Amino acid sequence: MPLLGAHVSSAGGLPRAVERAVALGCETFQLFTHNPLQWRGASPTPAAVDEFRRALIESGIKRVTAHASYLINLAGEGSVLNKSVDAMIYDIELCFQLGIDSLVVHPGSSKNGPRDEALTRLAASLDSVLERTRDKNVSILLETMSGQGGAIGAVNEELEGILDALAWDGRLGICADICHVFGAGADVRTKGGYARFVAALDKHFGLDRIGCWHLSDNKGTLGSGVDRHQHIGEGEIGLTPFGMLVSDDRFVNTPMIIETPKDGIGDEGNLAILRKLRGSEKNQ
Ligand SMILES: [Zn+2]
Ligand SMILES: [Zn+2]
Repeated sequence: MPLLGAHVSSAGGLPRAVERAVALGCETFQLFTHNPLQWRGASPTPAAVDEFRRALIESGIKRVTAHASYLINLAGEGSVLNKSVDAMIYDIELCFQLGIDSLVVHPGSSKNGPRDEALTRLAASLDSVLERTRDKNVSILLETMSGQGGAIGAVNEELEGILDALAWDGRLGICADICHVFGAGADVRTKGGYARFVAALDKHFGLDRIGCWHLSDNKGTLGSGVDRHQHIGEGEIGLTPFGMLVSDDRFVNTPMIIETPKDGIGDEGNLAILRKLRGSEKNQ
């Protein structure tokens, strides 16, 4: 079975994130190691690192994902590019210290410039990050995007090209975001549509490269490029693909992280829906 969890706040210190995940009954979780609107945070004290690791062991949670800063653009230019590479290295080292096994990053944006040049910069900067963190066993997961504002990652071929350029480095993988792929045009709403979508992931990346899923419904319509997260089943996607995903044995032990709104039924309610879907699908 896939592992179900939430993106939890680390307000009050990193160990608090573990407590919040445990309180929600998470089997996995995602966190920001620092404010995602900053390049880096204050490095945690050795005591905080120890406390985090200890809390993690006590929780029994084995798979933890961090989400990198939103400022990072590994396909950017000039000082942004340099800061992005440094920020990734900082985050990977921090994840390694904390026992976090993967770091999700938005692949970046070409802004208004030529696409091929941006993709070349992305491959080169990822190569540099991988090289400079060679001894850190932390996976880098490129998130699939909805395609807003020149974002790279709405097209499987682009991400496949990046993995190819990096000779399929074992530390590189994909974070498949169901809300984003729907916004980008993948119609996962039916059994056939879901099957075609997963088959495409398999063809382009191999399913063992899917290191994590982000689950939320989308207020935006199919192919609109819109990325507006909604509670599971309450947006344009509907419940069907979520039921298929959480009971898909091809993703055994793969983290599936909700990124649903915190209002209304909240994380508790959305996780309850997914657990029910997983159980009911299993009993069929
Ligand atoms: Zn993201
Ligand atoms: Zn999103």
